[in-house]
Amino acid sequence: MFKRFIPDYHAASVYDVEIQFFLSHGIKNLLIDLDNTLDSYKLFSPSKRAVVLKEKLIAAGINVFIISNNHGPRVTAYATALGVEYLHSTRKPFAYKVKRLLKEKKYRPEETMLVGDQLITDVLCAKRAGIRVLLTEKIVTEDQWTTHFNRLLDRPIRRYLKKKGRLKEWMTND
Ligand SMILES: [Mg+2]
Repeated sequence: MFKRFIPDYHAASVYDVEIQFFLSHGIKNLLIDLDNTLDSYKLFSPSKRAVVLKEKLIAAGINVFIISNNHGPRVTAYATALGVEYLHSTRKPFAYKVKRLLKEKKYRPEETMLVGDQLITDVLCAKRAGIRVLLTEKIVTEDQWTTHFNRLLDRPIRRYLKKKGRLKEWMTND
């Protein structure tokens, strides 16, 4: 039960994860969710820490790509300011846009990881696209209203997975 919701790794925040983690897992492409993973949905330009993280990843030779379910203007403004490529209106948990992206960019699934704060959208989408996924906690308390329904499902499943020891912390050796 809930097998498709079990992330490969878990972190409190993407900002906690050392770049070495991605490198040691052979990750060359990072698909990062925007709202509540990188920054609040209210921000139209990236926070300082988002800029620092992106620069560290790029310096390590890792491609950074924002994949968001949010609409064009918001995602375009943010991603352009951050200086990264992006997909808006991705429709996660559907995976067809992500699969198409992997093909177009020639990203190998085994070298690609998705990072996101939601089980129902991010984790499910990554599983369907055949790539690994790192689940995070949301970084700010407020959500856009469209996310509230997802959280109702997310919360009990997350609690269950945690109780069963199925949320493997990123720093765990394996
Ligand atoms: Mg999100």
